[in-house]
Amino acid sequence: MKYQVNEKGFYGQFGGAYIPEMLYPNIEELRLQYLQIIHEPSFQTEFDQLLKDYVGRPTPLFFAKRLSEKYKAKIYLKREDLCHTGAHKINNTIGQILVAKKLGKQKIIAETGAGQHGVATATVCALMGMECIVYMGQLDIERQRPNVERMRILGAKVVPATSGNMTLKDATNEAMRHWINHPTDTHYIIGSVVGPHPYPDMVARFQSVISEEIKSQLIHELGNPFPDYVIACVGGGSNAAGAFYHFLNDEHVNLVAVEAAGKGVDSGESAATTALGKVGILHGSKSLLMQTPDGQVIEPYSISAGLDYPGIGPLHAHLFETGRVQFLSATDDEAMNAGIELSRMEGIIPAIESAHAVAALSQLSLIEDDVVVINLSGRGDKDLETYIRWGKY
Ligand SMILES: *Cc1c(COP(=O)(O)O)cnc(C)c1O
Repeated sequence: MKYQVNEKGFYGQFGGAYIPEMLYPNIEELRLQYLQIIHEPSFQTEFDQLLKDYVGRPTPLFFAKRLSEKYKAKIYLKREDLCHTGAHKINNTIGQILVAKKLGKQKIIAETGAGQHGVATATVCALMGMECIVYMGQLDIERQRPNVERMRILGAKVVPATSGNMTLKDATNEAMRHWINHPTDTHYIIGSVVGPHPYPDMVARFQSVISEEIKSQLIHELGNPFPDYVIACVGGGSNAAGAFYHFLNDEHVNLVAVEAAGKGVDSGESAATTALGKVGILHGSKSLLMQTPDGQVIEPYSISAGLDYPGIGPLHAHLFETGRVQFLSATDDEAMNAGIELSRMEGIIPAIESAHAVAALSQLSLIEDDVVVINLSGRGDKDLETYIRWGKY
């Protein structure tokens, strides 16, 4: 129970629901019903079926032989990159659209930064025949053309957010505003373990299928479910929450979260929240976030769009504070080198987010026969432009 959310929506001092009063009815409806809904047998059956036949689960746990030889440990890759749409995000959007249906909603809204969560949301809306509006910063729309067109092909409406810096934070504000104005027919699908309670807990539960599978795959592979390390990258923290979830109470399993250090933790261009962050409130929950002394949110930077977020979810803030999870960071260069290394040694081009997790291998003091699981959150297809611009391969 130590790492579970309490009835008020807190993990230790972090979490809660700091929302405008106008949003209260929507959040309260969800809070009162989400656990009951996701425990219903009919929900479980449909969720499991879609994860299997549509997403392609269970994803393989692949023994990376050449990487293992180099780092002198037994390294396994959890292949979330093989999920439909190319990353773990679809585990959550499938879960949430089924919740939306049970709540009797007909319409879906979402926010997106780089567009990965927008694509995962547009995908499940097409699957379910539901109307989909995705808010996206005007600047991001210009930077992420292929994902914008993917969403449109899938039938979603992409609405530009033109306030502020015209990026993710502004898109989130627009989505919240829309939700306040359409409380009865619309569900808001948040893309990570962030936002007001119950979102962090709900999203962590949907992603927890990752660690559930890792455990049974390790039993099959090695005869026991416990690795020595589980490593995952952290933007908001949903793939890490999923990879850690069923190991949280197994205190002998080392859990390692890797943040994006950008051009260096102290360079002023970074997204290493636990290294730089202070307690504050962002997007409806109390957590750690990068902010100036007078509380202005600092613009984060990372070469990887999915890690370019100024906060982390409240569960991770708690796991950091209690010391249950070790937080490391990798710079742009370290991540890109790790991405190329994985491509060359295992024939797998990772998403640049996931390459940050791979980069942690050289920072850990591994000993012979350590069993290490790296959560490979996504595939590199979407990042081809970034690999090309980086050029050193
Ligand atoms: C969005 C994304 C992330 C970061 O999000 P989390 O919620 O921290 O998991 C990581 N990897 C990939 C491939 C992504 O698309």
